[in-house]
Amino acid sequence: MRAVAYCRYSTDNQTENSIMYQISAAEDFCRRNNLELVDVYSDEAKTGTNTNRDGLQRLLADCKTNKFGAVVIYDQSRLSRSVTDWFSLRETLSHANIRLYSCCESLSEDILDSSAFMSEGVHAIFNQVHVLETRKKSIAGVTTKAKRGEFCGGTPPLGYDVVEGQYVINEMEASGIRLLFRMYVDGYSYQQIMDKLEEGGYRTKRGNKIGTNAIYYLLINERYTGVFTWNRYQYKQMRKRIGKRDNPNYVRIENAVPAIITRETWERAMKRMQSNKRATNKAKREYLLSGLIECGYCGSTYTGFASKNRSSGEETYYYMCGNKNRLKTCHAKNVRADQIESAVYYILKDELLNKQLIERTADVIMNIREQSPDSSTEIKKQIAEKKQGVNNLLKAVERGLNTDAAFPRIDDLQTEIKALEARLAHCQPDGTIDRKKLIKKLKADAARIDDDFMQRRAVIREYVNKIIITDDGIEVQCIGDYDITGGATQI
Ligand SMILES: [Zn+2]
Repeated sequence: MRAVAYCRYSTDNQTENSIMYQISAAEDFCRRNNLELVDVYSDEAKTGTNTNRDGLQRLLADCKTNKFGAVVIYDQSRLSRSVTDWFSLRETLSHANIRLYSCCESLSEDILDSSAFMSEGVHAIFNQVHVLETRKKSIAGVTTKAKRGEFCGGTPPLGYDVVEGQYVINEMEASGIRLLFRMYVDGYSYQQIMDKLEEGGYRTKRGNKIGTNAIYYLLINERYTGVFTWNRYQYKQMRKRIGKRDNPNYVRIENAVPAIITRETWERAMKRMQSNKRATNKAKREYLLSGLIECGYCGSTYTGFASKNRSSGEETYYYMCGNKNRLKTCHAKNVRADQIESAVYYILKDELLNKQLIERTADVIMNIREQSPDSSTEIKKQIAEKKQGVNNLLKAVERGLNTDAAFPRIDDLQTEIKALEARLAHCQPDGTIDRKKLIKKLKADAARIDDDFMQRRAVIREYVNKIIITDDGIEVQCIGDYDITGGATQI
């Protein structure tokens, strides 16, 4: 039978046999067992605690070809040092109808054989225990070193050098660290700090410009206060990725390294960072025109949404057709929120300043008076009735009433409701309206458009029934049947 050998050697374990040694053992084994060795797969400097190894992956891929019928390994630990991986690899080979031989252990042909399972399982467990023990020793070693304030490997952080295994302050770099913390605590932006560091000729350990990302990591590095931390988070378990988690073997020792900044400075920096985080989470944008914009193609209402640029994190705000958003049945273009909002604002403001809209609104309000009783309770009653009418029509549409018939009627009702509400707001307690006083009041209302967001929103809602958008432009429908066509607005 044709066989291939699989060999693995990890450089961090000095007691392991070399690849050459493993190959010659496999050659011997094949000679003695009547196997023809046709190829060797190997992984050098690779851990046996995961299966993420090129040689192993190639071997597994080739199992699907008819190139060989057996795999020879030196011992179980070469294939895997993880119990779960061992049995899963064993199963994969068995399903591919490939025999697995070990030079040092006798592996059963039948993986369902109970005594074979027991003996392989014991070996697999010992191999994994070996990994765990080695790991424990190395953590203990680092902790002892850390307790003495000694360097534990990697690159020392900016601001420090390592001299004879001990952290010492690099004065040039440390002055940059102090500058950075001072500026941050004083409220400067990352950009301003970055420029200042560049100006001062400060560089990272690798000689690169200190960017905003680096600034963030320098700021959160507690080591600058003299605290030694090591292994704060765990990213891998048995060298398999597990995401970011708190490490149970986290080492934290106060006054272990010379401090570059005071604890107070560091805490103030962290406080600013926390409040910045809260501010960005809270700053939700309000949409000035929400509920007012109607799609010129499908009649659906536009809703606001924010789109975040992945690299810069900057947000751009849009309004989008509701049908397009939910059902993807409409292809109306999204409109930039800032553009449509300022367009509507200027259109409305222009009209209000020209007094046309105010006169017209006054007419509508006065006109309603002709057809309706005067008392405010009566007006309220009518508003409630008309709102009910709108709801009934919407329900009828849901049940299948033709929208062409329903929507114009709904529009009419909403216009009447707006006018009644305006009238309610402007009439005297006895229900009478003085046209001059009314116009004065409307002008005062109109001036509120520049007060603040809430006032602007209220004024727009008072005068605007709806805004219809097509790709060609916008149409602002105001109180009464008064339309302002915005034409092409370059949105
Ligand atoms: Zn639409």
